[in-house]
Amino acid sequence: MRIVLVGPPGAGKGTQAAFLAKNLAIPHISTGDLFRANISQQTELGKLAKSYMDKGDLVPDEVTIAMAKDRMEQPDAENGFLLDGFPRNVPQAETLKKLLLQEWDARLSVVLELVVDEDEVVRRLSGRRTCRRCERVWHVLYDPPARTGICDDCGGELFQRDDDSEETIRHRLEVYAEQTSPLIAFYADENILIGIDATGPVEEVTSRAMAALRPFVR
Ligand SMILES: [Zn+2]
Repeated sequence: MRIVLVGPPGAGKGTQAAFLAKNLAIPHISTGDLFRANISQQTELGKLAKSYMDKGDLVPDEVTIAMAKDRMEQPDAENGFLLDGFPRNVPQAETLKKLLLQEWDARLSVVLELVVDEDEVVRRLSGRRTCRRCERVWHVLYDPPARTGICDDCGGELFQRDDDSEETIRHRLEVYAEQTSPLIAFYADENILIGIDATGPVEEVTSRAMAALRPFVR
């Protein structure tokens, strides 16, 4: 089965992608891993991607797509794959659709959207506190240390990273919604979009996702 996973920052997408891929025995293909692998193995695509990244530019879509194609051609992806972070816009989605048809005479099985309540994401992320000394991450509500502001493990001082401030989180969610809503609409039009509630414990979200995917497992 060929799956695309989409979800906002704070939805636990990376974690769910890893669990789902394992349960379904298909590779988890994330753009981050693709970039890292191609750059560390110094492939032609990796060198090309790096030349853009070194200049602080975005890696062009064609390069990302070529890396994804290489990866989807590997033997472990014969029975499908779970894409994470790609496609990230409508032109990439259209290219992926053409590529699957041309190379494999195939289509995506399903696009799974992790749906979370914005306030819930803010609550989850803005409660994070990081230890200055050992970098362990605590949570003021869900995983508080015994003494407020002090790391249980090493006695270090806890602080809130800029990334975890409410303002930054709300901004990232806004950017995500703006960039991703056309992609979501595209897949809704294709009738392959399924949304699941990604609120709550990781295992519960995984079971919900597996239940939603079950009809597509062959
Ligand atoms: Zn610590």
